[in-house]
Amino acid sequence: MRDTVRQDKLRSLLETKKAALLANLRKSMGEQRTENARMSFELAQDDGDKSVEDHEHHVQSAVQSMKSEQLEDIEQALEKLAEGSYGICAECGCEIPIQRLAIQPAASYCVACQEKIDRISKRETLWNKDITSSDDETYDYLDDE
Ligand SMILES: [Zn+2]
Repeated sequence: MRDTVRQDKLRSLLETKKAALLANLRKSMGEQRTENARMSFELAQDDGDKSVEDHEHHVQSAVQSMKSEQLEDIEQALEKLAEGSYGICAECGCEIPIQRLAIQPAASYCVACQEKIDRISKRETLWNKDITSSDDETYDYLDDE
């Protein structure tokens, strides 16, 4: 039997994240445009219109691709959720805690397995410290139901 409460929570979690990302994307594109308009004006003094257009295009697509990568993670997560395969550890098959998925929607492993994997990759990257424990602000909204 499927745990529909968990599925529902995961769905609303992902949809909240998606909405926030989209809002963020729109906002930063807006800001980017304002900033570009200012730079366009300055650059246009020397360089003429063509390079200004190139520059604008470059900056915008950089911002866009960064954000849309995150968005893609969420979309994929939603697809997996629909299939019923989201939030399951790819290593041991247990359910990944929702709190963990809130921080890392694209997580494919439970904490224990992730730590195992991190320990291995840490050894490889020479003590790359403290990647996982920095972010707990997302815990908050999960508690209010
Ligand atoms: Zn696991």
